[in-house]
Amino acid sequence: MKGPVITVVGGGLAGSEAAWQAARMGVSVHLYEMRPKCSSEVHKTGRLAELVCSNSLGTDRPDKAPGILKEDLRTLGSLIMQCADRFRVPAGQALAVDREMFSRAVTDALESRPEITIHREEVEKMPPEPVVVATGPVTSPAFSRVLLNLLGRDHLYFYDAVSPIISGETIDRLAVFAASRYEDGEGDYLNCPLTLQQYQEFREALRQAERVPYTVSEPRRFFEGCVPVEELAERGEETLRYGPMKPVGLRDPKTGKVPYAVVQLRSENREKTMYSPVGFQTRLLWGEQRRVFRMLPGLSHASFFRYGVMHRNIFIHSPSHLLPSLQQIDRRGRWFAGQMVGVEGYLESTAAGLVAGVNAALYARGLAPLLFPRETAVGALLDYVSSHEGPEFQPMNINFGLFPAETQGENGGRSKVERHRRIALRSRQGIEKVRRELERLIPELSMEECRT
Ligand SMILES: Cc1cc2nc3c(=O)[nH]c(=O)nc-3n(C[C@H](O)[C@H](O)[C@H](O)COP(=O)(O)OP(=O)(O)OC[C@H]3O[C@@H](n4cnc5c(N)ncnc54)[C@H](O)[C@@H]3O)c2cc1C
Repeated sequence: MKGPVITVVGGGLAGSEAAWQAARMGVSVHLYEMRPKCSSEVHKTGRLAELVCSNSLGTDRPDKAPGILKEDLRTLGSLIMQCADRFRVPAGQALAVDREMFSRAVTDALESRPEITIHREEVEKMPPEPVVVATGPVTSPAFSRVLLNLLGRDHLYFYDAVSPIISGETIDRLAVFAASRYEDGEGDYLNCPLTLQQYQEFREALRQAERVPYTVSEPRRFFEGCVPVEELAERGEETLRYGPMKPVGLRDPKTGKVPYAVVQLRSENREKTMYSPVGFQTRLLWGEQRRVFRMLPGLSHASFFRYGVMHRNIFIHSPSHLLPSLQQIDRRGRWFAGQMVGVEGYLESTAAGLVAGVNAALYARGLAPLLFPRETAVGALLDYVSSHEGPEFQPMNINFGLFPAETQGENGGRSKVERHRRIALRSRQGIEKVRRELERLIPELSMEECRT
């Protein structure tokens, strides 16, 4: 291969997108994929960009956050979006695909690019730079050890233990009270107070609710600090009240008393548009989470930005290690991409692959990284993974809470629908600028569509 070259490790959604983007920028790519020789507990085929679970890529409505992300990706010539659009199957407003045809099309498109050489082998040590690491949530054990040595145990997570995230504007502020335990701090939490009867009904609902079944390879034992809330409910009548629903040190200003039990909601972002119940990691089915958590005072109309999940999911503490370009802070020739940077979802992983692929290719050509404004859906995700400041860092899907809030004047009494339309418009405008900038930097950028 002559000219600039990069290596991409992992031919999933992110790695495939990264390789495609670099190739269309005239950069040669060595793409390493361990399947079909070695597989993982979730993949079933040898094809690139295999969808490991659902065949739905989420809503395609342009006024919803996942729809805005799709538009960003289309504007930037995403291979994954081109193949998804070509092989979509009827699914209402969701973009669902024929999974076989979709991943076959991605594989064919990458195999037919002269710039890309695909190596079907497991990578067991870190390749030379420039390199994009996109080995996904079920990275092979050997390469997981490489990452562990590189980042340290404190910065590499092996399991998702995620509480749901609730839209701040759907919490009934009259039913909750702001306070920190023992009046420490400035009332940083919103507290949902429960009476004895409400507590008992809630606990019973948790116990009865339907859960995601465990797969054979999953552990049934979790660290004591992240036991699913429904399992705590099973352990005994008082377990929750001595655990995540502990009321001590929290006095309800309405009654002047300490409630029987409390669920604390902690804000997830600076703008306080997203809240999550503390210690409420769960494996309940998503519909059940909606039903059961809406029983809590203040949450009867809650809308959910993300549901709780618990599964094997390797991801790095990106705010400590990555720049918004997805470049490693202390190794500028190394990028991380996909679910492992702390995004959640097929298209979020694709977006991270696109950013890493474009920036690795720019680096290989001696150019500075491309900046994605936070007003765009891609930029909002990058901002979350590179600069999240909250107490916990957990994988996140695209949602309106990640976009910058409008200033008071701009917001002026607009309805939610109107605000979402404006967010979509700002993202469209921002991503157009990114596209033009990329075309300025790489005038010969291949605008070829995938033809397979
Ligand atoms: C069980 C499970 C179910 C999920 N279900 C959904 C869902 O329904 N909807 C949704 O939107 N998201 C889902 N996700 C989340 C996420 O969107 C997917 O995991 C997505 O595939 C992530 O894309 P990725 O490119 O980061 O990883 P992957 O698509 O997994 O790609 C990583 C690739 O790297 C390869 N690889 C790993 N180690 C090595 C190595 N050492 N050398 C070479 N190759 C290697 C793997 O074989 C794989 O092809 C799920 C995740 C999990 C774990």
